Amino acid sequence: MSETFFVTTALPYANGPFHIGHIMEYIQADIWVRFERMQGKQVHFVGADDAHGAPIMLKAEAEHVSPEALVARVAAGRARYLDGFHIGFDHWHSTHSPENTALSQDIYRRLRAAGLIYARPVEQFFDPLKGMFLADRYIKGECPKCHAKDQYGDACEVCGSVYAPTELIEPYSALTGARPVLKTSDHFFFKLSDPRCVNFLQEWLEAAGHVQPQVANKAREWLAGQGEQALGDWDISRDAPYFGIPIPDAPGKFFYVWLDAPIGYLAALKSYFESGKARARGETRTFEAFLAAPDTRQVHFIGKDIIYFHTLFWPAMLHFAGAPFRAPDNVHVHGFITVSGEKMSKSRGTGISPLRYLELGMNPEWLRYYIAAKLNANVEDLDFNPADFAARVNSDLIGKYVNIASRAANFITRHFGGALDYPRGTAALTERAREVLERVRTSYAARDFGRAMREIMAFADRVNQEFDAREPWVLAKDPARREALQDSCAQALYGFKTLTCLLAPVLPALAERVARELFGLERALSFADALEPPRHINPYQHLMTRVDPKQLDALLEPPAPPPAPAAAAKAPAEPPAPAGPAAGTPISIETFKQIDLRVARIAAAEAVIGADKLLKLTLDLGGETRTVFAGIKSAYDPAVLVGRLTVMVANLAPRKMKFGLSEGMVLAASGADGGPFLLSPDAGALPGMRIS
Ligand SMILES: [Zn+2]
Repeated sequence: MSETFFVTTALPYANGPFHIGHIMEYIQADIWVRFERMQGKQVHFVGADDAHGAPIMLKAEAEHVSPEALVARVAAGRARYLDGFHIGFDHWHSTHSPENTALSQDIYRRLRAAGLIYARPVEQFFDPLKGMFLADRYIKGECPKCHAKDQYGDACEVCGSVYAPTELIEPYSALTGARPVLKTSDHFFFKLSDPRCVNFLQEWLEAAGHVQPQVANKAREWLAGQGEQALGDWDISRDAPYFGIPIPDAPGKFFYVWLDAPIGYLAALKSYFESGKARARGETRTFEAFLAAPDTRQVHFIGKDIIYFHTLFWPAMLHFAGAPFRAPDNVHVHGFITVSGEKMSKSRGTGISPLRYLELGMNPEWLRYYIAAKLNANVEDLDFNPADFAARVNSDLIGKYVNIASRAANFITRHFGGALDYPRGTAALTERAREVLERVRTSYAARDFGRAMREIMAFADRVNQEFDAREPWVLAKDPARREALQDSCAQALYGFKTLTCLLAPVLPALAERVARELFGLERALSFADALEPPRHINPYQHLMTRVDPKQLDALLEPPAPPPAPAAAAKAPAEPPAPAGPAAGTPISIETFKQIDLRVARIAAAEAVIGADKLLKLTLDLGGETRTVFAGIKSAYDPAVLVGRLTVMVANLAPRKMKFGLSEGMVLAASGADGGPFLLSPDAGALPGMRIS
C-alpha cells in the first residue's frame, strides 16, 4: 500500500468562534489535502475542539453554564465556517471525549513506565477567595522593573521584561481582586531534559523534512539552551478545580490542557475510524493498525506560536509512549495573518470577521485564492491588503482564468453546437499542459502555493495571448475560416480545462461546477484530466463575479464602538434633577440603557483630608482611569479596597466637589441592616466591561 496521510490543523480553543487566523490555516491545510487527493493519495483530514483548561472553566462559570454546555455551543457553530469556506475536514471531534481521556491516560501511563514522569512540590500563587491556584495570566500587579501598573504575572506589556509572578509588586488576583497567597502542591512533570529525550529530539530535528529548516533551528536553540535558558521539564498537571482529564492514580490532579490537546489529534482520528467514515474512504485497517503502519504519514499544520509544543514535547511524548504511537512525520509551520500590515486584534476592531465575510455574500473562493497566492513554505506572516485582494482576484481569477471560458465557449456553442476539434492535433498542447502540470504539482507538494498560483497565471496569460493573437472575433465573420475559429477556441478551452484542474485544490466548488456544467463530467477532477483535451462543451454559464469594493468596505468597517466612557467628561453641567421615579416605579429598557455601567478596578484608594465620609478612589476602566469620591469611608479601610473590582456609573456628569472633580459613582448596597456594601462582579469580569 502506498503512503497514506493523516492530516490535522491545530485544535482551536473552544471558548469562541473561529477568527481569520484559524480560517487561513484551515484553507492552507485543505488546499494541500485536496492536492494530494487529486494525485491519487489517500488522505484522512481531521480536526477537533480544544475544550479543556481554566479559561473555559472560568468563562462557563461566568455565564452560569457547564463547561460542557459552553464547549457544545461553540462546537455547534463550527460547521457554518468550515462549510462556508469549503474546508473539508473528514471529521470534527473534541478533546473532551472518551477517546481522548483513554488515549491521554494511556500515553501518560506509558511515559510513567518509561521513567519520564516524576512529581515534585511547586509553590504557586493561590486565590484564597476563589479557592484555586492562579495561572500567570490570572495574576496582575505592578511591574518590578518599570513599575507599570496592572501587568500580567509573566511579562510586562509596557517594558517587555519577563519575570515570575512572585516578583510582581502588589500582586492581585485578576479573578477576584484578592491578594494571592503562596501555597505548595505536588505537580507532575514530563522529563524533557532526560538525555534520551534530548538525543531523540536532536535526531528527529536533524532528519530532513520533519520541519522547515528555520523551525528546526529554533527548536535546536531550545534544546541546547544553557543556564536560565536550559531546557526545562514540563509541568503537566493542574490541581482541582480544573476542567480536564483526571490523572490516573492521583486524585484531584488533572492533565494540563496542553498535554491532552495534541493527543486530541489522535482522539479525533480514532473517533473518525470508529465512526465508519474512514472505511467509507476505503480505509479498512483499525485505528491502531493504521497508526503503526510504516507507510502512514502524520502531518500537522500549525502556527508559529506553538512550535515549542509541537517540535519538542509532542514528538518526545509520542516516541517514548511507543507503538502504535510515533513522532509526527511533518510539522508544517505558518506565520500569522495581518490586515493591512496590522496584527489582528479583536479589541481594536481590526482584523476580518470570517462570518461577516460570508454574511456579506463574498465568495469564499476569492479568499481561498488570495491566501493561496500569498502563501509560501516559509514561516512568514501573510498580509491581507484589501486593495491587493480586489486587484488580484479581479485580474487573475476573472480577467485571466474565467475570461478564457466566457470568451471561447460562446463561439463554440454558437457556431459548432458545442463540438471541439483540433485540426492541428493535440500532441503539442498536451505536452505543454504536462509541463505546467509538473511544475505546479512540485510547487503544491512543497506547499509553495504562491509559486503554484504564479505558474498557473503565467499559463493563463499564454492561453489568452494565443487566443487574442488569432483574433477569433474576426475569424467568426468569415465562413471560409471556420476551421481556424474552431481550432483557436478549442485550444483555449483545452487550456481552460487544464487551468481548472490546476486550480481545483484552491477553488474546489468552482472547479466542480466547471467540470459538471461546462465539460459534462459527473465526477471529481483529477490531475489526469488536465491532460485530456475536451471534445465537447455545454453552453457557458456565468462563473464568478468581480470583487465589489463596497463589500470590502463593509467587511473592514470596524464594529460600532461601545459608547465612550469619556462621554461623561464632555457632558454639560449637571442637568436639572428630573422628578425621578420612586424606587420600584417601572422604567423602560431604553431609560435603563442610558446608564453606562462598567466594571472598574480600584487602582488606588485614600482618605480625603477634611472629609469624614469620603474616600478618594482611582478607578481603572481598562485603560482609562477616573477619580471618584465615594461616601464609603465608614465601612472600608482604603488599603483593603486596592485591587478589587467593583461597578461604576461611567456616564454620570462629573461633579465639582470641594476636594476635586468626581468623575462617576461606584455602586454600593445599604439598608437598615448596614452598609454600604460595594458591589463586585463575578469572576472573569475585567475592568472596562459593560454591564447590561
Ligand atoms: Zn515593565
